[in-house]
Amino acid sequence: MTKRIVIAGAGHAAGQVIATLKQRKYAGKIVLVGNEAHLPYQRPPLSKKFLAGSLAAERLHFKPKSFYDDPQIELHLNTCAAYVDRDGKALITNRGDTVAYDKLVLALGSRARKLSLPGANLEGVHYLRTIADVESIRAEFANAKHVLIVGAGYIGLEVAAVMRQLGLEVTVVEMADRVMSRVVSAEISDFYQIEHTNQGVKLRLSTSIAGFVGESRVTAVKTTDGDDIPTDFVIVGIGIIPNTELGTDADLDVDDGIVVNDQCQTSDPNIYAVGDCTSHPNAIYDRLLRLESVHNALEQAKTAASNICGKETHYSQVPWFWSDQFDLKLQIAGLSAGYDEVVIRGNPADRSFACLYLRNGRLIATDAVNAPRDFVHSKMLIASHAKIDREKLADINTPLKELVK
Ligand code: ADP
Repeated sequence: MTKRIVIAGAGHAAGQVIATLKQRKYAGKIVLVGNEAHLPYQRPPLSKKFLAGSLAAERLHFKPKSFYDDPQIELHLNTCAAYVDRDGKALITNRGDTVAYDKLVLALGSRARKLSLPGANLEGVHYLRTIADVESIRAEFANAKHVLIVGAGYIGLEVAAVMRQLGLEVTVVEMADRVMSRVVSAEISDFYQIEHTNQGVKLRLSTSIAGFVGESRVTAVKTTDGDDIPTDFVIVGIGIIPNTELGTDADLDVDDGIVVNDQCQTSDPNIYAVGDCTSHPNAIYDRLLRLESVHNALEQAKTAASNICGKETHYSQVPWFWSDQFDLKLQIAGLSAGYDEVVIRGNPADRSFACLYLRNGRLIATDAVNAPRDFVHSKMLIASHAKIDREKLADINTPLKELVK
C-alpha cells in the first residue's frame, strides 16, 4: 500500500498531482518539497498579465492556501531536493533531511537558460521564470525608458508586447533570421514580425550578443556586429533547460528529459515523473517527446497520480501551446516538425487565420491566430490521423468540425 507520496518540485504539475490524489481519495501522507517560497502557481501569466500588473500574485496560485491546510499534506518550501536514495527509498534535501517515500513523483520543471557572456552578471540583466524574477523586473519600470530583450521566442515576444503597452521603448535581439523559429513556420513568423514592428518594437534579427556593457549596472548591449545598443535594463528569454539532474544522479533513464512510460513511470517503478523535466513516448507522433507545455504538465500529473492510486491510466494527448501578444492569441495544436505541405486558412490581413501543416496528406499541426474554433477542431483532426481534403481545409466556409470523422 502507498502510505507516503513525496513530490519533488512544487510547480503547476505538483499542484495537479495533489489535486488528483485528493480527488481519488488517496488517504496516505503527501509531502511536497519545493525550492521556491511559494505554493504551486501558474507560470504562463508571469510574462503576460502578471508582468503587466493586471493580475495579483494571489491569483497566480493553482489552489488557495486553504487547500494545503490539511493534516495529510506536509510542505517543505524553500527546500531543494538534492538527491534520491533509491535503495533507501528516500529523498534527501539540501537541509540534510531524509524524506522517506513509498512513491516519489519528480515534478522538477525547467530553469531559464543563462547567457555566459562578459557582463552577464551585471545588475539590470534579468531572466523571467519565477514570481521573484517578475518582481525584480517590475521594480525596473519606474526609472526605465528603454528595455532590450534577448530572444524572440514566446517569452521575448510576450514581454515585448507588455512593455510596449506600458510605454517603454523596446528592442528585441534575436540570433535566428525570424521570430519564434523553434515553434512556428515562416508564415507565422512573418505575420508576427509585421505586428511587432507596427506596434513600435525594434526587431534586430540574425544578430548575436557579444556581451553587456556597464560598471555595476548594465547600460548597453554589445552585438557581434560591433554595435552598442544603449538600454536601461535587459530581459533574456533564450529558452529553458529541463531539471533532469536528480534523475541522472539517481541512475534513472534520461534522454533529454527523464524518460517515463505512458503511465508516467520512470525506469524505477517507485518513481514517477511529470511535466517539463520528462521525455515520454508519444503514440500520435511515434517518438519520444519532451514538451514545454502546461497542458502536458497537468495531464501527466493526472496520469501519474491516478496510476499511483491504482487506477490504470495511459497518457496519450495531442500537444498544445499558446501565446498572447498584444490582442493576438496564438494557439498551436500538435507539432509541425517534418511537415511537407502548408495550407493557409483565412487571410492574415484579417488578423484571424490558421496555418495547417500536413505530412503525407494527414494533419500533424495547426498554428491558429485568433481562430479558436480551428484550433479546437484541429486537435481532433490530428488525433484522427485521417487523410484530409486540402481544398476543404483551406475553405473558411467549411468548418473544420465537418472534416472530423
Ligand atoms: P522561451 O520560452 O524562453 O521564449 P524559445 O525557445 O521559445 O524560449 O525562444 C528562445 C529564442 O531565443 C529563440 O528564438 C532562439 O533563437 C533565441 N536565442 C537563443 N540564444 C540566443 C542568443 N544568444 N541571442 C539571441 N537570441 C537567442
